[in-house]
Amino acid sequence: MLDVVIRGGSIVDGTGAPPRTGDVGVRDGRIVAVGEVDEAAAREVDADGCLVTPGFVDVHTHYDGQVTWDDALEPSATNGVTTVVTGNCGVGFAPVRPAHHDALIDLMEGVEDIPGTALHVGMPWGEWESYGEYLDLLAGRSYAIDVGTQLGHGALRFYVMGERGAANEDATAADLDAMTRLTEEALRAGALGVSTSRTIGHRSRSGEPVPGTFAAGDELIALAEGLRRAGFGVFEAILAGTIGQLPGLGGERAKPLEELPLLSDVSRHSGRPCTFTVAQLFEDPTHWRLVLDAAAEANQTGADLRPQIIPRSVTIMTSLDTYHLFRGRPSYEKIAALPRSERVREMRRPEVKAAILAERNEQGRSPDLSDNLSALFAVALPLTFELREPIDYEPTFDRSIAAQAAAAGVDPQDLMYDRLLDDDGTAFYAVLGSNFVDGSIEVCRDMLLAEHTVTGLSDAGAHVNLISDCSVSTFHLTHWGRDRERGERLPIELLVRKLTSGNAALYGLHDRGVVAEGRRADLNVIDMDRLAIGAPFLREDLPAGASRILQPARGYVATLVAGEVVREHDADTGARPGRLVRGPRAA
Ligand SMILES: [Zn+2]
Repeated sequence: MLDVVIRGGSIVDGTGAPPRTGDVGVRDGRIVAVGEVDEAAAREVDADGCLVTPGFVDVHTHYDGQVTWDDALEPSATNGVTTVVTGNCGVGFAPVRPAHHDALIDLMEGVEDIPGTALHVGMPWGEWESYGEYLDLLAGRSYAIDVGTQLGHGALRFYVMGERGAANEDATAADLDAMTRLTEEALRAGALGVSTSRTIGHRSRSGEPVPGTFAAGDELIALAEGLRRAGFGVFEAILAGTIGQLPGLGGERAKPLEELPLLSDVSRHSGRPCTFTVAQLFEDPTHWRLVLDAAAEANQTGADLRPQIIPRSVTIMTSLDTYHLFRGRPSYEKIAALPRSERVREMRRPEVKAAILAERNEQGRSPDLSDNLSALFAVALPLTFELREPIDYEPTFDRSIAAQAAAAGVDPQDLMYDRLLDDDGTAFYAVLGSNFVDGSIEVCRDMLLAEHTVTGLSDAGAHVNLISDCSVSTFHLTHWGRDRERGERLPIELLVRKLTSGNAALYGLHDRGVVAEGRRADLNVIDMDRLAIGAPFLREDLPAGASRILQPARGYVATLVAGEVVREHDADTGARPGRLVRGPRAA
């Protein structure tokens, strides 16, 4: 007797093989039969007309805090993801000395825009100091989906060097020894990798670049030595220049291409793969291609570099209750604290609108990102698009706020103002920047097709009031597999491979990511006719009532984790078979 049988689906097995019709039998959390399955099961899932895929593996998330208070792990679980990897971009919460709790919260709040109040209130501070103790805490919890972690260089440097580390002073030989030892220790405790940030764009809330941003080569080699000694693990990096040269912050010291030799050294020294974010940028729209080519070349000579890409623009969101163009203007700030409906009513008054539109943003009014963002939203109106269903992440320029304002003969800021009040102020708009430089995301097709790239960058759990790219796993299938009309699509088997076995293998999780006998029964049953990404909305459900953007998906008939149905018809079943994943897993 099987536990579950999934009948008659179109199996896209994650290896890149073309779809084939068949059944999938599951027992004791594992796939035990693929093909024609006659055996009866306690539970049958009818997959007629549906795709059956491995559960998706999202390697770029920031749930480091959320995993200590939440077990549903939305919005990942709602988008077919069955394994997440946290601890990216050099930030994390272990190891940590008691005196540094606030500093690490400051860092996470600044870099990843996760409300500090939620992290203060939601996390059981004091229950861990070492990396192993942090993992023990997570190991005592259950989740809808599996969780893997990485050691953040920023937290490690803080732990080893204290204030010297935070001030980005050079590490001494003793510091380097300690970092190597603690890296190896964290990996042996179960971390899946080590991460670092080298961009000055990643700053703590107090404005300091992440500890380790300016780390010299020998410090990265010290981390690599920890990986080498452990014999497993991934090195994840945000290279200098990843989000541009940032002249407003004093300028980056290098472009990503110039960082590749160092990253190659890390990979060669450790014998381990390095993954790093690559996107097309306005200021240098072809640089990404040089980086991909250089990585492929380095891979010919002993390095293992895996550029990490996102198959659409990183969507910077704006709405009345999150960040928007008019924050920081005195007449807006006067009513900013009003409940949304009252604020909308006030903003509809012509004299209020005239006053706000006539003002400029005052610098330094808000202690958060909103100063910089208001400036961005002002210049980005030609790249600002509505996120109304059916959401189009590859729109034509004539649908931008600026183009629509020009067509209507009104000022773009005037139109943006009115549109922010749509749906009683709940409407969301997105600035499409990276990867959308040419007014299409054709470059993402090349990125997806490149053999050595992996997909990631959902940033799930982070930028909770600014970015909602967790839906990107669903987007692979809806847009690239089905809907795209502005250029060629991609075969479903390639898209599923990029979402599953590719990422699982990178992180050494060989027990998942493929539909085959003996593998973990992490599976999606997807109704491709119905699969859709819903409109984003705001929910105040983080600890201390902090808000976050959620974005639902429709069309997931079932999602199984270790053989248990955790989601059924797009709803949480309450099952919590997900656990901390400690270290790599054999097939
Ligand atoms: Zn990140």
